[in-house]
Amino acid sequence: MHLPCPHCHTTNRVLPERIGEAPTCGRCGKPLLAGAPLALNESNFAELTAASTKPVVVDFWAEWCGPCRGFAPVFAQAAARRDDVVFAKVDTDANPQVSAQLAIRSIPTLAVFHRGQVLARVSGALPAGRFDAWLTQAVTARA
Ligand SMILES: [Zn+2]
Repeated sequence: MHLPCPHCHTTNRVLPERIGEAPTCGRCGKPLLAGAPLALNESNFAELTAASTKPVVVDFWAEWCGPCRGFAPVFAQAAARRDDVVFAKVDTDANPQVSAQLAIRSIPTLAVFHRGQVLARVSGALPAGRFDAWLTQAVTARA
């Protein structure tokens, strides 16, 4: 699958079976799945959320959405701090098929995926503390 580096935006090709081996960017050497949210699209969203060995929390957002812009730094700071979860973002305007499949009607919507299953989902921007607690609960409750 093709994954954009969240640090330098170079597209990297990663084999799905090697996604659990903390892949790094071929250009800048930084981790592809840690430190900053990864931008997913219709072609890599399903693959990554199914293949990732860690749960993947996705922020469904759009450029015109004020609450999404307000929440973005909360999400980015959590991504910089936590390595138990992969942080990803989906631009709902650029990727309408993903939004339609998941029946996303309001943004921001946050959802946690693991092995293709939805572990938790919430609509609306959360303050940092509540987002952190919600995410911890979602990933610790998984079977
Ligand atoms: Zn890079």
